[in-house]
Amino acid sequence: MSDFHHPFLPSATPATWLGMMGGGQLGRMFVHAAQKMGFKVAVLEPAADCPAGHASDHLLSAGYTDAAALNALADQCVAVTTEFENVPAQSLATLAERVFVAPSASCVSIAQDRIEEKRFFTECADRSGVLPAPYKVIYAESDLDEIPDHLLPGILKTVRMGYDGKGQVRVRSRDEARAAFAGMNGVACVLEKMLPLAYEISVLAARGANAQSVVYPIAENVHRDGILFTTTVPGPNVEAACAQRAQAAALEIISRLGYVGVLCIEFFVLKDGSLVVNEMAPRPHNSGHYTIDACVTSQFAQQVRAMARLPLGDVRQHSPAVMLNILGDIWFDGASEQIREPAWDKVLALPGANLHLYGKDDPRRGRKMGHVTFVAPTLTQAQESLLAACGILGIPA
Ligand code: ATP
Ligand code: MG
Repeated sequence: MSDFHHPFLPSATPATWLGMMGGGQLGRMFVHAAQKMGFKVAVLEPAADCPAGHASDHLLSAGYTDAAALNALADQCVAVTTEFENVPAQSLATLAERVFVAPSASCVSIAQDRIEEKRFFTECADRSGVLPAPYKVIYAESDLDEIPDHLLPGILKTVRMGYDGKGQVRVRSRDEARAAFAGMNGVACVLEKMLPLAYEISVLAARGANAQSVVYPIAENVHRDGILFTTTVPGPNVEAACAQRAQAAALEIISRLGYVGVLCIEFFVLKDGSLVVNEMAPRPHNSGHYTIDACVTSQFAQQVRAMARLPLGDVRQHSPAVMLNILGDIWFDGASEQIREPAWDKVLALPGANLHLYGKDDPRRGRKMGHVTFVAPTLTQAQESLLAACGILGIPA
């Protein structure tokens, strides 16, 4: 590997290529940001028809562990990143023998495993001051006999592969926990205490190859049916002291990881005002999409800078913003299976609207199809546009 501090500059002849593991919408928005800066992007993804593939300069349609494809990606690119949280960490380690990989396999593997992640957060608590929710690791049915009372009611979550509320079940009793664990096909789980949430926030941070770190403004998130529904920045509930604590904790976590790239950390704010760290995503995050339209440097441009070892960009937010996720549900009229295009013309007529669609031609209920970010001189104006958009799209506000 070349000198650690040497940046990979965008160049036309020969082109400087960046590599992306994963072909979803996060990869697609990364491609847009990278191309804007003069890079070319190669995407490795098993599905031939994928959001990032449509935008990329080169698509390698292969499995994430395909040795020939990993070699081809390493040959072509100066640096590789991932948009897919569950990319096999071993593939990142293999790539790292040949090219610069950010974030590293070891950072990604911590974020892929709720047990390792919670251990790491707990280790950081001496200086971050923030702990994860109380929990117990459940490897086998017998572990359920020893659930302490204070963990109930709780949430049983699979240790690996959870996303958008999948792989988790709310349980009120040991019997419900047993039934839920039986339904998880024997995979390791954690039982987490159900906490009294006041609201949820996420902190987007980035760290460069030169160890410089930056942190974006706090985003306040509302989930529906386990999926992110809206992100509001600045968060209407977020107090300055809480924001500072969360940002400081995020900076402690990202530097302790020795992380390079964009990292998003989710926190709970409890009814008593205390802060609990939930989980982290080793990549740009849905709750950071607002940065495309509302910040000097988007989370995707930031990822490009970090992996290319360029200086990190200004995280300043220039407009209040609200982001509304667009799920496949709104292509359907009620219970009908008939598909119709939502009234984008009416949405785009709203003040401050920025429409982002991911190029998926198969709308399904619960599938992330795009998002709309409203920016405005005041948060109230942005929120008014969001409410109007919900009305137009038939989304209960
Ligand atoms: P993501 O889509 O963010 O990857 P996920 O499926 O990995 O989600 P979590 O973020 O752990 O799952 O949980 C999803 C949501 O469930 C949280 O945003 C929160 O609303 C709720 N939740 C999770 N854990 C707890 C808890 N211990 N107490 C109360 N609510 C919780
Ligand atoms: Mg989450």
